[in-house]
Amino acid sequence: MYNTVIIGAGPGGYVSAIRLSQLGKKVAIIEKEHVGGTCANKGCVPTKALLSSAHLYDEIISKSNKFGINVNSVAYDINKIDDFLTAIVSQTRKGIEFLFKKNNIEFIKATAEIVDKNHVQADNIILETENIILAHGSEPAIFPPFNKIDGIWTSDDFFTNLKDLSDPILIVGGGVIGIEFATFLASLGKKIYIVELMDHILPSEDLDVVQEIKRNLLRKGVEIYEKHRVMEITRNDEIYVSKIEGNGNVTEIKSSKILLAVGRKPVIPDDVKKLGVEINKGVKTDLNMKTNIENIYAVGDIRADIMLAHVAMYEGIVAAHNIAGEDKKMDYSTVPNVIFSNPEIATVGIKEKDANPEEVIVSKFPISANARAKTMNEKNGFAKVLVDKSSKKIIGLSIVSPNATDMIMEGVLAVKYGLSTNHLMDAIHPHPTLTEIILGSIEGAEGKAIHI
Ligand code: NAD
Repeated sequence: MYNTVIIGAGPGGYVSAIRLSQLGKKVAIIEKEHVGGTCANKGCVPTKALLSSAHLYDEIISKSNKFGINVNSVAYDINKIDDFLTAIVSQTRKGIEFLFKKNNIEFIKATAEIVDKNHVQADNIILETENIILAHGSEPAIFPPFNKIDGIWTSDDFFTNLKDLSDPILIVGGGVIGIEFATFLASLGKKIYIVELMDHILPSEDLDVVQEIKRNLLRKGVEIYEKHRVMEITRNDEIYVSKIEGNGNVTEIKSSKILLAVGRKPVIPDDVKKLGVEINKGVKTDLNMKTNIENIYAVGDIRADIMLAHVAMYEGIVAAHNIAGEDKKMDYSTVPNVIFSNPEIATVGIKEKDANPEEVIVSKFPISANARAKTMNEKNGFAKVLVDKSSKKIIGLSIVSPNATDMIMEGVLAVKYGLSTNHLMDAIHPHPTLTEIILGSIEGAEGKAIHI
């Protein structure tokens, strides 16, 4: 008898398995593909490996001369980029499998079939369990007209076709995946078109944040069609002809590839549906990650809520503690968002577009006034803080900068623990570092910015 059987070894599933084991529980985890889920195999990890190559290539081209480094010729080798990516993905999988062994977690490579709320079948074995965690994950969304045409890629297909990146490439969807892939491809000099349905790419971000990214993409020759939709696609031999419509105009785009990045949908197989858990787009849970069935929990993308690896991991931890008898609740108010664009974007808390201007102070500090940025020859980006006018608490932070995705943790702690402008102004920020743009924005909110 197991305490918990977990279905799906992505970030939500594997983290909850380890924490349950640390809490003394007997755990089995069942995975039909590779451990690590979308993040390790087809998402966060491989895209960041690609972006490391692209970023270095870009930096050599754009900065070496200025930095006094003579580079006679620069070229990239897609085979070696692919080798690097494959090695990192493989290391990540091995690392997770090692952690399963270390924590005495039974890892079963099979397709799980839920028999009833206390039994799960894996291959021909039936596991008896007190609890089940559903961590089946998500898959790329694909709908008409895109599913009617052969050969259209989703992010899943991109990695297996890396050696066939003939351009132009049309990216449909200017969200997080679309922009990260566009950043990689445009850095390698590929001709890219982006078609985005909403008013602007990265529609959930503030406009000033988006402008910084857009400027860089446009400089690299990317053509961006916002408020446009794809009406029709035809394929003639190796060329796709897409008719897109926006602002009353119809434009024709010819491309060699089409990458669809229009969101993801949860994977909810029939056995989960039959179980009787409440489903509304995704599997519904309370803040303890418990479904409407007492001993069934759900974490990660199967919930169809915030589809982020770090959210899935934390949901996995919350589920584990609740299964172990505690009462631990998810807090979604301070989820950091990170986008590996160029420059990077990271945000937490309330954004300017969603704030009441009567109640907040918005203060920005530009990278151009930061000493470390100067030494890096970086000119584009800023930190923008939102401060509650009456309490002076930090309620939101947006950063557009190199390493923004690392620097956001200062904002996460500030927003989560209700820190005020004084708290952060009294915390000495190391000099010269990019973190001083955060300090600068906070000082600005108090009318006391030193460096601007
Ligand atoms: P997304 O929701 O971020 O973006 C999809 C974009 O496609 C939106 O901007 C939407 O307006 C647009 N769109 C939808 N239908 C369209 C159409 N017919 N034509 C043109 N545009 C259309 O989704 P995604 O980029 O596919 O990413 C999927 C999930 O993976 C998201 O939850 C995302 O947060 C997550 N993810 C996160 C990271 C990260 O944290 N760095 C990286 C990659 C993916």
